[in-house]
Amino acid sequence: MPQPKPSPALDAMALAFDEAKAAALRGEVPVGAVVMRDGTVLASAGNRTLELRDPTAHAEMLALRLACEATGSERLIGCDLYVTLEPCPMCAAAISFARIRRLYFGAGDPKGGAVENGVRLYESPTCHHAPEIYGGLRESEAATLLRDFFRDRR
Ligand SMILES: [Zn+2]
Repeated sequence: MPQPKPSPALDAMALAFDEAKAAALRGEVPVGAVVMRDGTVLASAGNRTLELRDPTAHAEMLALRLACEATGSERLIGCDLYVTLEPCPMCAAAISFARIRRLYFGAGDPKGGAVENGVRLYESPTCHHAPEIYGGLRESEAATLLRDFFRDRR
């Protein structure tokens, strides 16, 4: 029996979830992000806003910075970003500036998202690069991770 081919998309999402869970263990909001190119992981990160005392240290921002360092370019042409939660306005803008090709995310975020919710940044006429968008990957797991985190902190 031939084995089913592993899906690079699902593997990348699994790594993003590992980063999210690691963030939760550090007391950070559990969000993880991965930047891939040609099936290779360029960067992965989880939220570190508390640790770095930096409100911009969202998982996506850190993963983008690391990927730019790795590639030596501020434009991540042909790269895809995987994140466990719908990006906020800041991260959605950074993803656009970085020229990310495809954006994959887990749960939608009605309260803080900027892709399918809120400002819907990529539909704005002032947005000069919109990635292809694939939402809802392992959505229930992503939502549960966040819900459990916030429940435990109450
Ligand atoms: Zn963000």
